[in-house]
Amino acid sequence: MIPDNFEYHKPNSITGAISLLSEWGDDARVIAGGHSLIPVMKQRLTDISHLIDLKDIEELKGISISNGIVKIGAMTTQHELIQSEELAKTVPLIREASLQIADPQVRYLGTLGGNVANGDPANDMPGLMQTLNASYELKGPDGTRNVDAREFYEAAYFTAREDEEILSSISFAVPNGGYAYEKQKRKIGDYATAAAGVLIEVENNICKTASIALTNLSDTPVFCQNAVKILIGNKLDEPTIQEAVTACVDASEPVADVRGPVEFKKYVAGIIVRKAITNALARA
Ligand SMILES: Cc1cc2nc3c(=O)[nH]c(=O)nc-3n(C[C@H](O)[C@H](O)[C@H](O)COP(=O)(O)OP(=O)(O)OC[C@H]3O[C@@H](n4cnc5c(N)ncnc54)[C@H](O)[C@@H]3O)c2cc1C
Repeated sequence: MIPDNFEYHKPNSITGAISLLSEWGDDARVIAGGHSLIPVMKQRLTDISHLIDLKDIEELKGISISNGIVKIGAMTTQHELIQSEELAKTVPLIREASLQIADPQVRYLGTLGGNVANGDPANDMPGLMQTLNASYELKGPDGTRNVDAREFYEAAYFTAREDEEILSSISFAVPNGGYAYEKQKRKIGDYATAAAGVLIEVENNICKTASIALTNLSDTPVFCQNAVKILIGNKLDEPTIQEAVTACVDASEPVADVRGPVEFKKYVAGIIVRKAITNALARA
C-alpha cells in the first residue's frame, strides 16, 4: 500500500518544527528515521496530512560526554550509537543493546529519539533508558521540560509527550560497575520475546547500586523496583539472585501473541533476567 496524500515540511530548527506542530496539531507528525511511522502510514493506520521531517535540524544530532553526563541528540541513529568509540568506552551497555536491534539497515536510519518517543513496548531503547535512569528533554510552545524515562511511558503508544512537543535529547549519568543487555528473539531482525537491561555495582562483596528494566514484557517498559530493593545491600549469592529474578517475572505482564503464550514469555523472562544479572555481576 502507499500512504494517503500529505504535505511534507523540512524545518531546519527546533523552533520551526514546533511552530509547524502547533499550526497543524493532531494532523501533523514529526518523522525521524521513518522505520515505525512509514509502515503505519502505508497501512493507512494513521491519518497524517502534514509530515515534519527532523533530518535537517542540527541541534537534534550528536553525542556529548562531559562531567560524567552523557547527552544524546534525538536524531542520533542507532548506527551512530554503535560507531561512537567514546560512547562504547564510557557506557558499553549502549553498544551492547544497540547491536541487538533489528539489523544494520534499520539501524542506519532508526534514531534514538524515534525509538524512545514512539512508545512501542517492543522497542529496546525505552527499557535501556529506564535501566540507565535517563531523562528526556521535551521542547514545545511553552518551553523546555524534562521527564524521566521511568515516568514517561503510560501505555502502549501513549507517553507523557504532548502532541506539540519534540523530544530533543536524552541524558543520563555515566553508570559505574557491571552491565548487561540480554534479549531473546525468534530470529535476526525480530523484536524481543523478552529482554532485560541490568546495571550492578558491587563494593566489598555487597551490591551497592542496581537497576533492572524489562522490554516487551508489558504494554510499557518495566522498571523492576522490587528486584532492585532485593539486590541492594545484599551479597549477590544464588538465593538473592533467584529472589530478584522472581520479582522481575512477577512485575512483568506479557500478553499472548505470535511470540508465544503468557506462560512461555514469563519463563523466557526469568531466563533472560538471570542471564543479564549474572553477566552484569561478572563484569562488576
Ligand atoms: C523490521 C524492523 C525491525 C525492528 N526491530 C527493532 C528491534 O528489534 N528493536 C527496537 O528497538 N526497534 C526495532 N525497530 C524499530 C527501529 O529501531 C526504530 O527505532 C523505530 O522505528 C523508531 O525510530 P525512527 O527514527 O525510525 O522513528 P520514526 O518512525 O520516524 O518515528 C516513530 C514515532 O516517533 C515520533 N518521533 C520520532 N522522533 C521524534 C522526536 N524527536 N520527538 C517526538 N516524536 C518523535 C514520530 O512522530 C512517530 O510517531 C525495528 C524496525 C523495523 C522496520
